[in-house]
Amino acid sequence: MALADRPRPIPLHQPHFKGNELDYLKHCLEMGAVSSTGTYIDQFRQALKDFTGAKHVVLTMNGTAALHLSLLLAGVHPHDEVLVPSATFIGTCNAIRYCQATPHFVDIDGNSLSVDAEKLAAYLAEIAHVKGDVCYNKNTGFVIRALLVMHTYGHPVDLAALQKICAKYHIQLIEDAAEALGSYYQGQHVGRFGALSMFSFNGNKIITTGGGGAIVTDNDELGERAQHLSTTAKIPHEWNFQHTEVGFNYRMPNINAAIGLAQLEQLPKILARKRQLAEQYLQAFEHLEEIEFVQEPSYAQSNYWLNAFKLAEPDVNLRDTILAATHEAGIATRPLWQLAHRTEMYADCPRMDLTQSEQLAASLIAIPSSPFSLV
Ligand SMILES: *Cc1c(COP(=O)(O)O)cnc(C)c1O
Repeated sequence: MALADRPRPIPLHQPHFKGNELDYLKHCLEMGAVSSTGTYIDQFRQALKDFTGAKHVVLTMNGTAALHLSLLLAGVHPHDEVLVPSATFIGTCNAIRYCQATPHFVDIDGNSLSVDAEKLAAYLAEIAHVKGDVCYNKNTGFVIRALLVMHTYGHPVDLAALQKICAKYHIQLIEDAAEALGSYYQGQHVGRFGALSMFSFNGNKIITTGGGGAIVTDNDELGERAQHLSTTAKIPHEWNFQHTEVGFNYRMPNINAAIGLAQLEQLPKILARKRQLAEQYLQAFEHLEEIEFVQEPSYAQSNYWLNAFKLAEPDVNLRDTILAATHEAGIATRPLWQLAHRTEMYADCPRMDLTQSEQLAASLIAIPSSPFSLV
């Protein structure tokens, strides 16, 4: 089966460095260009623009920093509410808190693993009140400023449906596409549908820069603001230090961009292998009635960053038995993240009914998904 030829233990996800990574890194060290200046920053940025089709790409030191800046630039203010799935990596919610705003949890669809558009529309019809071009939560009185969607394991959300809802309620759409480089919605790369979107290049993502991230946007003003704010709000000048506001040091260093460029060159090969691995898993699990392999939604092409299956019936005990048995056998598996509304930090945040998120958490198991074995 899919993993039969792999030596144990089999990790959940391993990076793959069989391209120009070492050559580009060596070049950085020889040039002394390891930090905020160097040619790889521009090259990687341009290559990402070409790959995604986005008009502006701003490289950052990690994905969470990219999320933080994206939310600020989308106009998220203290006390605002940001609609976000409870079933997401905790960093998504933390970035909202960095803006002193409040996560407002929405449910996901058990099949796409991402925000349930129909359920969200029904919920907003009940609790949202639009005055002028601002959307208020009738229950709390606070502004609902944005919807931060996340493409779980690389499977795109139904972006067109969510764009429509956001337009109706004057809510900004932002994509957490951290896991979804190489995923397409109706033929267009994800990250092009929100006002701003971001990717992560952490070590476990589909390509890595060690640590790193990127903000993408097609909006000229937001693109320039993102670049400016990520660079301590410094006016570019050969020797002068002039800063226009309190900015951030969120830039990606040149050595990380060098690895990123080499990795991006390998991405088509990685994507092909990911698809092949998903196909192998699908075949291996096809005859098992107790589990269902997670496949890309019909409207999208997924990068299949992380493969997963669901138990036919949510069952935490069975889930944990399988997690323990696979670990015992040297096969790394993972449950879904702890649901954000179940954490101490976010337990009191506003939320809709989260039944599908709870059911998914009790039934999902992520399985080894490295495109290539290291050894
Ligand atoms: C990885 C990830 C992030 C954060 O990226 P970092 O680069 O680790 O800061 C944010 N959201 C999601 C959904 C992620 O998977």
